[in-house]
Amino acid sequence: MLFERQTFLVAGLSRSGISAAEYLISKGAQVYLYDDLDDEAVRSAQSRLEAIGCKSVPKSELDEKTEKCDVLVLSPGIPVDHPLPISFKRAGKRIIGECELGALAVRCPVAAVTGTNGKTTTVSMLEGMFKAAGKRAIACGNVGRPLTSCLEELGEDGVAVAEISSFQLETLYSLRPHVAVVLNVTEDHLNRHYTLDNYIYLKSRILKNSAESEYAVLNYDDPIVRGFAEKTRAKVIWFSLRERVAGGYLSDGYFCYQGERVCPEQELAVEGNHNRMNALAALCAAKLFGVPDEAIASALRNFRGVKHRLQNVGTLNGVTFLDDSKATNVDSAVQAIGSVKGESVLLLGGKDKGYSYEPLFDAVKNSGVVHAVIYGENAFRILNAALKRGFTAVTLCRPFDLAVRVAYLTAKRGQNVLLSPASASFDAFRSFEERGDRFVEMLSILREESERCRREPVPAEEDEEETHEIVAIE
Ligand code: ADP
Repeated sequence: MLFERQTFLVAGLSRSGISAAEYLISKGAQVYLYDDLDDEAVRSAQSRLEAIGCKSVPKSELDEKTEKCDVLVLSPGIPVDHPLPISFKRAGKRIIGECELGALAVRCPVAAVTGTNGKTTTVSMLEGMFKAAGKRAIACGNVGRPLTSCLEELGEDGVAVAEISSFQLETLYSLRPHVAVVLNVTEDHLNRHYTLDNYIYLKSRILKNSAESEYAVLNYDDPIVRGFAEKTRAKVIWFSLRERVAGGYLSDGYFCYQGERVCPEQELAVEGNHNRMNALAALCAAKLFGVPDEAIASALRNFRGVKHRLQNVGTLNGVTFLDDSKATNVDSAVQAIGSVKGESVLLLGGKDKGYSYEPLFDAVKNSGVVHAVIYGENAFRILNAALKRGFTAVTLCRPFDLAVRVAYLTAKRGQNVLLSPASASFDAFRSFEERGDRFVEMLSILREESERCRREPVPAEEDEEETHEIVAIE
């Protein structure tokens, strides 16, 4: 790519857009900036980037400036069928993502991880394994730092441990990972990718450039991912919780790889079969890079989970609060329900992504979930699925704060309040992080109230402004 001769439009000024603009300026390109939003964060990014030579484009001048630009650098948050990429496509111009810029320039080996769920967890485990072996590894891509921001630091002998989402795969063409890990593919983001087939196709693109000298670490237990083996030229290494595959598996209480014990299963400090799968996937990738067993064991021992992923955030009057706000689809919530010990009141709801919630209630019925408190924009779709599957221990309750309060009041001593919403957060929050943080804040509020009541019982405050909706079904 001839950076000095080309004009780029960077659309979407979040983390990756900022990094792409900085990178392009450093390479001598002309850079225009655009964002649909005009909030504090965008304005501050614009002024920072204008100071290094970028030019912001107001909405009114977008068409005119678009004509001047050769390449569109599209944020993963903007769909490829947005009018802006469509106008570039019509003009026969290139549309790439920040990750593509990184992929074109990266000089060190890349371990790339994709899948519907578990990417961040697996990337964090794998980064820990490399670091324990004394390797300069950086978690980047969809988590940690944008790839373009760590190219210098990685040099030739670091390892880029890249989390790659389906949104990034839409505009990524040149990545050729030394090891590509595919964790699982289940229904998600259908509001963006329209069909499951399209979503599967996008996930398979992580293997598109792999040759015989590269490796594909694939989930043997996931029928969709298993199918990827037929289409890739890379050498396939499997991981499985069910079978002794050619790759990573569990046997006699040990994590094993290619017929040899790597470390005892109890080294893994986090719970749940899904985390065992993530550990196996990370272990396979680490072994392919020559990481010693002791470093793998030490990383698993020291891994404490990632914030908002099934995290124990505290206990109040015997009720444990579990924050799994990152469970933004059905399968991740199913994993949480299956992993949590004891009985739980489950908090569900948020923004709909176009899939069926009925499988969720099949899992709920066979689990320790004693009650579901349903909130959010999709509350009635979830309620409908619950009733269709014969799960009637539900309360419909909005908004979120009140739902958390009701879940806490419903839970008995010894039970959990589990926020594992199976939905995106964007109906009421900017991100799943903000939703998880609010859950933790609600715990503090409830704790304060409980302490205040213990000291001096007070009448509940009246709130005339907000409308509350509570419907107990059973
Ligand atoms: P991602 O980065 O792919 O969104 P995370 O590691 O952030 O994945 O986890 C997202 C959610 O999925 C969390 O609720 C987590 O508990 C759950 N999860 C993690 N690993 C898996 C897995 N292998 N299969 C299903 N769900 C998982």
